[in-house]
Amino acid sequence: MKTKYIFVTGGVCSSLGKGIACSSIGAILEANKFKISMTKIDPYLNVDAGTMSPFQHGEVYVTDDGAETDLDLGNYERFTNVSLKKSNSITTGQVYNEVINRERKGDYLGKCVQVIPHITDEISRRIKETGKDTDVSIIEIGGTVGDIESIPFLEAARQFQIEIGKENVLYIHLTLIPKIKANDELKTKPTQHSVQKLREIGIQPDILLCRIDQEMSIPMKKKISLFTNVEEEAVISAVDITHSIYQVPISFNEKGLTLVLLKKLKLPVKNGNLHIWEKLIKIIKNPKYYKKIAVVGKYIDLNDSYKSIYEALSHGAIENNTKLEIVKIKSEDLTSVNIKSLLKNINGILIPGGFGERGIEGKILAAKYARENKIPYFGICLGMQIMVIEYARNILQFAKANSTEFDSQTPYPVISLLEEQEGIDYMGGTMRLGNYKSKVFTNSLIHSAYKKAAILERHRHRYEFNNNYKKQFINNGLKISCITDDILIEGVEWTNHPFGIGVQFHPEFKSKPFCAHPLFRDFIKASIKHKSI
Ligand code: GLN
Repeated sequence: MKTKYIFVTGGVCSSLGKGIACSSIGAILEANKFKISMTKIDPYLNVDAGTMSPFQHGEVYVTDDGAETDLDLGNYERFTNVSLKKSNSITTGQVYNEVINRERKGDYLGKCVQVIPHITDEISRRIKETGKDTDVSIIEIGGTVGDIESIPFLEAARQFQIEIGKENVLYIHLTLIPKIKANDELKTKPTQHSVQKLREIGIQPDILLCRIDQEMSIPMKKKISLFTNVEEEAVISAVDITHSIYQVPISFNEKGLTLVLLKKLKLPVKNGNLHIWEKLIKIIKNPKYYKKIAVVGKYIDLNDSYKSIYEALSHGAIENNTKLEIVKIKSEDLTSVNIKSLLKNINGILIPGGFGERGIEGKILAAKYARENKIPYFGICLGMQIMVIEYARNILQFAKANSTEFDSQTPYPVISLLEEQEGIDYMGGTMRLGNYKSKVFTNSLIHSAYKKAAILERHRHRYEFNNNYKKQFINNGLKISCITDDILIEGVEWTNHPFGIGVQFHPEFKSKPFCAHPLFRDFIKASIKHKSI
């Protein structure tokens, strides 16, 4: 069978949940036993998302092979079984970089190098690459139709149909049907205009996913179908979801998307089902415990900044039949005066990754509070470094101990740069990135979570535990429980504490709704046992 390609575009406005829609399409196809791949196109000029601020762009998601990507790739990996690689994230920056390099080498043999065909051909080449060894390759085109930046990608998507055949390409367009509050009326005009815009470029959508707050009426479907030239059965209501994003595959299936997809792609109907998703939703809707977890971070205002952390917490909660309330605390607001009231009734504290000095002291206070009051604590990347700094200052009595990231003159650089990281000018792609193997020592909480002597986890950081102080930490009760290449400290634990773990890697990137990451699972388990103060 030839690989089929699905292009998903968005219209009207951003934030309609295109990433979740693509992931759900992936989940539906996998439930029907098709081998899929998923790719995100980001039409910005950055080569990757690594240099973008989480304040504006949300979390940077990291793949096994160390690509720093858009957070949608996290959704793809959570909803499906795909294992993403660098090639599953395509940006304008990468495409132009490649074409310009080739031009400098003289590979174009004197031709004038142009957007069409040279840029579009390079886009096409990358898209084809994603389809290797799969039945269906899903390509999400970021942004909204009408954006100047996305035009070459849409042009490549249009040409794709001519090249590989109509029956092998499907265009899905996600739009919005807004409700005018004053008269409680749903409006189809933005959808009509958005499809017009797409048709101007030469793409006739095959399926419309219309984001709406209620099931659309038959007359409305007919009207949209008539004005957009999309068959009525392919105009699908993408109704707002109340409980969990993991309901979306079920909802799409109920609204008839599965059959339309298979029919239009000329794929055999394999009687797949979504039982595992239904079971998941049942657990989410019937929790046994209600617990509060504080996330103390720098980028608290934007939900997307800690997307994978919040998802991994929810997976840990699902596995423990728990409904979580996540209390988001901006670390720069946390002081020794308000800490008690801000952390009242909290069952566990998590400090996520981060960069830069702002809010560091608040995080150190939170770690101290968790250690002294025996509140379950989970420190991730920067959260582990904070744990080490706090321990140095308050147990080892190293006054002003710090990471050299925040204080280059600190008398006790307990977290510092590796030699190979010193003097680096290029910020993009130069951190310790992607999968690294570590040894896990027995008799540790980390070992009892994984039940493995070796683990493979993803990284994204520059600074490391400074081994010059290792002995002093161990002699004073900080347990080292995980290590890479017998040198780099990957995990530390408080002794005499129910659950105090810090890890240098990012376990949140490998957590799944059907299989919570063991550290998140055990963190929630410990939080259930904790009697809040
Ligand atoms: N800023 C720290 C470092 O670069 C931590 C990074 C992170 O939390 N991802 O090492």
